[in-house]
This record gives sequence, structure tokens and C-alpha cells, in this order.
Amino acid sequence: MIGRATDAIFPPHAFDGGARPQGEGLSPEAWTRVRFIEDPRCDGCGTPFEVDPGARCAACQSDPFSFERARAACVYDDASRDLILKFKHGDRTEHAGLFGRWIARSAADLIAEADAVAPVPLHPLRLLSRRFNQAAEIARPLSRTADLEFLPDVVVRTRRTETQGGKSGRGRERNVKGAFSVPDERRKRVKGRRILLIDDVMTTGATLDACARALLAGGARAVDCAVVARVGGGV
Ligand SMILES: [Zn+2]
Repeated sequence: MIGRATDAIFPPHAFDGGARPQGEGLSPEAWTRVRFIEDPRCDGCGTPFEVDPGARCAACQSDPFSFERARAACVYDDASRDLILKFKHGDRTEHAGLFGRWIARSAADLIAEADAVAPVPLHPLRLLSRRFNQAAEIARPLSRTADLEFLPDVVVRTRRTETQGGKSGRGRERNVKGAFSVPDERRKRVKGRRILLIDDVMTTGATLDACARALLAGGARAVDCAVVARVGGGV
């Protein structure tokens, strides 16, 4: 289900007990346009649709991801794209806390079971040109409020991938296959743990899947994913 129940996202008293966060560079108009994803949704990929709690969509049943479950706070559309792009390009870095709180709400069940939080990494060269990794910036405050260990560098890019934009589902899969790993010396930090992987946007899930595969190969017990927005949830 998709809702515009903004009072649930920004209740009169914020989750942290503070005042209602009117500021943070978000006009009331901007966030009333964001379409938040509510239950029911697929337990595997987070797509909103009519389903019993815990059930999975046909795609997740026939071709499951290597991560166990995914949750997205909102639909990736014109409204959320605008907010996320401004954040990504460094104009609105204060959105990190806001996005973290959106994820804290939409992925509350995954956070409750997680042992640690890890971001999808950027390639070092891209990190240089962009100055910051948006996934890490969202994951850091989230890990603090959730009281979970933050693991910013357990997953690394082993090669530079092309941008996923404009690629088909299979093309995206090929592009990121084997592009991530957990370095040997960092394996002890993931071993036997349930890791919550964070990114800003989920499109086909190929990048999250490749990162989850790396974490599992590195000894993680299980991987769940939480993103700000997902493509294809718009019904
Ligand atoms: Zn699904």
C-alpha cells in the first residue's frame, strides 16, 4: 500500500521526542508529495501489493535475491528523486538524518533483528569526485539511533562498474556481478552476523544483491536491505 500519511512520518512529536522537524530543507509541500510505502508489501523485495504478511511476490519466489528481505521507505518518483538527487550531489546533506528516520520506520522489523549496519560502497574514484557516499551518510545516523554497529568499510568495490542507468535488468546484474567483496582482514566483523545493507535507491536490486552475495561469502549469517526509495513500487 502506498500512503501519503505524512502525520505518521512526521508525527506532531518526532520519534526522538523533539519538535516536529519542519525544517531540514524540506518544504511541507515537498514531503506531502512523497509516496511512502506501507504494508502490505512483498517480504522479499518490498514491492507494495496485496499479500498476506510475510508472503512474497512471484518474482521473489521464482528468482530469490541473495539478501533475505528488503524494505523501501517510499516510491522512487519525481518527488523523491528530486530530494535524493539534491542530497546525492551534496546540496542537501542534512537529508541524511531525515532519510535515516524514514528507513528506521519502514524497516523497523529488519532493524530489530540486525546485528550491524553497512552501506553499499562507492568506488574510491567516484567517492573522490562526489566527496561523500550517500549510502554511508544515511547509514551512519541510522546506526546511531538504532544502537547498531556501523560497518562503513566491510564491503568494498573490487572493480569500477559502469553506471547502472539505462541498463536492462540482466545488464545491471552482469555489470555488478563480482564487483564487491569483503576483504579478508574485515571478515571477522561480519562473521555470523545479520547485516542490514543500506542504499539510497533500489532499482532492480542487482547492486544490493551483489553486495549481499559478498557479505555472505565473507561469512555473514544473513543480509537484509533497506533503502530510501525503490523504483517500480508505484501503483
Ligand atoms: Zn518480491
